[in-house]
Amino acid sequence: MSDCYGGTVQLPDVEGGEDDECLVPLSPVLLDASGIPVIPVPALDCRMAGVEVGENLNKQRAEEHRRVLPQGTAFVVGGKWEANGNYSTGIHAPEDGGKLGKKRRPVTVDTSKAKTSLEGLKISIRQLKWKEIPAGRRAACDIYWHGVSFHDNENITSGLVNKFPGMLEMSRKINLSRAVRIMQELFPAEYDFYPRSWILPDEYQQFSTQLREVKERDAALSPTFIVKPDGGSQGEGIYLIREPGELRPAPAGAQARQAVVQEYIRKPLLVDKLKFDIRLYVLLKSLEPLEVYIAKEGLTRFCTEPYQEPSQKNLGHVFMHLTNYSLNVHSGNFVHSESQSTGSKRTLSSVLRRLAAKGVDVKRLWSDIIALVIKTVVAVAPHLKVYYQADIPPGKPGPSCFQILGFDVLLMKNLKPVLLEVNSNPSMRIEHEREVAPGVFQCVPSPVDEEVKVGVIRDTLRLVDPAALQRAACWRRRSSGGEEKEEAATAAAGRGLVRNHPDGMPSPCLKQVYPKYSRQFNHLRLVERIAALFVRFLGVKGNMRLGPTAFRTFIRNCKLSGSNLTMAAVDILYIDIVRRWSGALPDSREAGMGLEAFVEAFLYLAARRFKSQTPREQAASLLDLCEAQLESPRPGPEERRSLSCGRAASRGGAGGPKAHVRHLGPAPPSPAAAPRPRRASSQDCRGAKPGWRELRAEN
Ligand code: ADP
Repeated sequence: MSDCYGGTVQLPDVEGGEDDECLVPLSPVLLDASGIPVIPVPALDCRMAGVEVGENLNKQRAEEHRRVLPQGTAFVVGGKWEANGNYSTGIHAPEDGGKLGKKRRPVTVDTSKAKTSLEGLKISIRQLKWKEIPAGRRAACDIYWHGVSFHDNENITSGLVNKFPGMLEMSRKINLSRAVRIMQELFPAEYDFYPRSWILPDEYQQFSTQLREVKERDAALSPTFIVKPDGGSQGEGIYLIREPGELRPAPAGAQARQAVVQEYIRKPLLVDKLKFDIRLYVLLKSLEPLEVYIAKEGLTRFCTEPYQEPSQKNLGHVFMHLTNYSLNVHSGNFVHSESQSTGSKRTLSSVLRRLAAKGVDVKRLWSDIIALVIKTVVAVAPHLKVYYQADIPPGKPGPSCFQILGFDVLLMKNLKPVLLEVNSNPSMRIEHEREVAPGVFQCVPSPVDEEVKVGVIRDTLRLVDPAALQRAACWRRRSSGGEEKEEAATAAAGRGLVRNHPDGMPSPCLKQVYPKYSRQFNHLRLVERIAALFVRFLGVKGNMRLGPTAFRTFIRNCKLSGSNLTMAAVDILYIDIVRRWSGALPDSREAGMGLEAFVEAFLYLAARRFKSQTPREQAASLLDLCEAQLESPRPGPEERRSLSCGRAASRGGAGGPKAHVRHLGPAPPSPAAAPRPRRASSQDCRGAKPGWRELRAEN
């Protein structure tokens, strides 16, 4: 197999040297002569963590490092693959001459629930010389590979699971739209990569009112919208409309009724006159600390009918407007190709090479795509943390998680990447069905899929290798010099790991993007801080909703009440927001205030307290205030941990005129609902809505 990026296109290489134009990596760590990170490790810690000593010590390199590191420090010079197929970690004890350790037992992977990933997973395990446990087993495995969700296997108390709790839920169209909307509220310019969306049926009224207003302003405008059922996938149930009246009656059932109606991107970038989208593979390696990798190779899926801008005549042409493989494969024009650069499914690199040949700044495009991915993960992470603590309460035995995600991205004609959706279970199939005779289908290997997907699975396994995680833990413990040092250690750990591949193995496809580029994106992690407050006041472990008493405790402990905000007003705020959100979240596990509702309440309180600032500044000021209040007078160790992102308090003016609640959630259930002060919807709040205007202008 070739390298992920064969050919001539030089894409940004996160391993060093060629950094993206617009993304600045963290400060480099100490590198050895061949560019491999060398990270001081407390030797004792590593031995206690059970890290074994490798057989293939590169003595010369070891000597060089011994000279520059303080006494009693172990060091990492990258791992080695031994002749017997075992991987030696490359962590070496310091002054004891590096006694040779025992052979490591192979990493075990429970593949009993892997479903359609199974073939690619088997190949990866074989290549790594790890051990597959195909039927599962009683004794704990190192890694559990699930096909659908975290809950495919229950009662896992150790090891690693390849799904995060809550990821399935967060990748649903409505939940993703809501999570991004919160970020659009706080950082409108940074989150303009997601098309403007409304949630049906709750926001039908806003949708039709805003569309009417847009048309009144400019009668020549005739925007098109795409309607997507909430739980749908593979293009199922999707259709285009131009008027609210064209919405089809919803099927029966509360869940089936929900959908997202979204601004349709009318001017996509075309290749061979065809619309296409990009499937990117993203590894969320860890939530805390946040670690994200992107596969440099991905897939592009092509439509099978030449594209024309939407018109009343062609709205129903799915082979022209929808890029889903599952739809287009049924078109007579679908081309199965052995080549990676032709046909209806191609590698991303082959398309980028085409674009580069036409003069497109592919480096810039790639860094825009990286930014889109990081920002999306930042939007979803706070919600995942709430699910995580509910399913794996701190202090209780449980596995750690990682997950491969499929990001679907559309390129606009002006090369701006647009997020279509995040798939929590991207297809990892490496074969496809082919009609070998009329009506007779056969599964045949798909070289394009195999090339891309096996690389992603294998790199993921290498990155989550339990021995490697122990090393990372060592580094983290050692890097007590603040967030930045910790991020540098995490970044280096990732870089070191992906460099360590055995002879004859393809070079790695997964490239670390976070924390590598954390400096440019850390400021966006405000909602995570709000979520940390939320989790802190949840009380009983396993909860995902805040009760009224806990909300009062939050207000009281953060000293937010006073003459301007009585506790009675706090209770009314709680009831009002919770009432509006209840029913909007069909998968809610219990009654009370969920994270989205809490964020809405928090932003309302921030706007009340800190006038004349942007929502983002208001939220940051209130966070500083709350965190400072909770830190004093003497926080317990747990409190200190949860406030690790806290900043110094900055006190803004209290009080001020009553602000409107910025409404990030569902619209009132019905116009007949009890009268209450008018609350602006998130749409209202965004007012001129830069995302909407920008997208439309460029579209
Ligand atoms: P599904 O999960 O059913 O595949 P998607 O959100 O991925 O739903 O949409 C299906 C297809 O519709 C996409 O692959 C893309 O081709 C097209 N599409 C989706 N949203 C938009 C949009 N806002 N503008 C233009 N095309 C879109």
